[in-house]
Amino acid sequence: MWTALFNWLFAKHVGGTFMLRIEDTDQKRFVEGSTEKIFEALDWYGLTPDEGPQQGGQFAPYVQSERLDRYRQYAEQLVTNGKAYYCFCTPERLDQLRAAQTAAKQQPKYDKHCATLTSDEVATHKQAGETYTIRMKLPESGILVHHDIIRGTVKFQYNVLDDSVILKTDGYPTYHLANVVDDHDMGISHVIRAEEWLPSVPKHLFLYEAFGWTPPVFAHLPLLLGTDRAKLSKRHGATSALSFRDEGYLPEALTNFLALMGWHPKDEQEIFTREKLVEQFSLEGINPSGAVFDRTKLDWMNGMYIRALSVEQLLERLRPFWKLPDEKHEDSELLNIVRLIHDRLVRLTDINDFANFMFPSVWDTELPTIDRAIFVPKKGTIEATNHHLEQTAKWLSAYNGEWKSATLKEQMIAAIASMGKKNGEILWPLRAALSLRAASPDVFDLLEVLGKEESIRRIEHVCR
Ligand code: ZN
Repeated sequence: MWTALFNWLFAKHVGGTFMLRIEDTDQKRFVEGSTEKIFEALDWYGLTPDEGPQQGGQFAPYVQSERLDRYRQYAEQLVTNGKAYYCFCTPERLDQLRAAQTAAKQQPKYDKHCATLTSDEVATHKQAGETYTIRMKLPESGILVHHDIIRGTVKFQYNVLDDSVILKTDGYPTYHLANVVDDHDMGISHVIRAEEWLPSVPKHLFLYEAFGWTPPVFAHLPLLLGTDRAKLSKRHGATSALSFRDEGYLPEALTNFLALMGWHPKDEQEIFTREKLVEQFSLEGINPSGAVFDRTKLDWMNGMYIRALSVEQLLERLRPFWKLPDEKHEDSELLNIVRLIHDRLVRLTDINDFANFMFPSVWDTELPTIDRAIFVPKKGTIEATNHHLEQTAKWLSAYNGEWKSATLKEQMIAAIASMGKKNGEILWPLRAALSLRAASPDVFDLLEVLGKEESIRRIEHVCR
């Protein structure tokens, strides 16, 4: 999704077209339903293609398995021009070759066994019904110089490269052929892709030259690293892209975060609207030495975006994640709770842990177990704490004033002072008794949300 985002940002920045092409020619690796996952993920991130399988467009079809005839035609054209050849080697022969090369501590590489077959020999093999692949016929020596927008000048030696298969025995093209052909046919100007394709660049440039086409501009993104700067092993496909949604991140926070991963804007700003990102993005601003995936920063950024929402907007975002203890909750009640946690929420999935204890009915079915350690303030004792809680329950029972956070605060703080106590001695255990957790909203807000009866019930429960 990171790669898709950079492609999208670049296309929007230059006023180009963001095109989605489904590359499904590797039938062994193709997973049922994965195309739908890609549509879903792009949609969630707001990276809707201008052209693609769903949108259509002048270069349809945008699914490679629907374009097989073209690849065969183009592969045959290369054979005719002497830039590719039929290979009738069996898998057994190729296995033996690889084993022998490995044993001799050589880099495994196809030995051009079929490169010199005459047209008569090819005809004989074909008549015998043997299956074949088509391989590109790379030069045996020479150096290729490639200019990459992100990497700068990269040099490759032809003599270490393999005559890769471009058309497989099942008639499907490999990535090398399918991409070069489609990028040309679809008028692709810029190829922005993962680092892993950099070693294939000379093969692709060879194919462009063999066809007599002008290659597009290439930009190979940096490696994705963890905060320890070790390479991230997990593949970042559509499924993992959607897992961020399920973990409670906001799409606008994620795109902001991903854009800054490996790309540096001119100033030190970190929070960008989509429009600002498009305006400022440049391929030249991408650091080739690796992009660090920092989960702590993502959490921080998600919190910033949550804070920027109104409580009403936040409630709408929370609904899919919020497992309410029962069904009878008015929006006004939910909004009161959301208001209390708005400042602290990091991910939408936190809502159940942060908020559900604030429903008065939540202790009805099961009284929670109590961790005494969280009640006792610094320098306090369990005995004194229990005594203070009992007194607080009595005070609240007798209280007849308005049951509002601000009024309760004013009245209680005055009462604590008149008893000669410190605020912390009374309010710390009270907050813990109401929430049963170490971190929670302000104690007076909690009193208001829980109501008088439930507040007293909770205090009595923990004193028991
Ligand atoms: Zn062969």
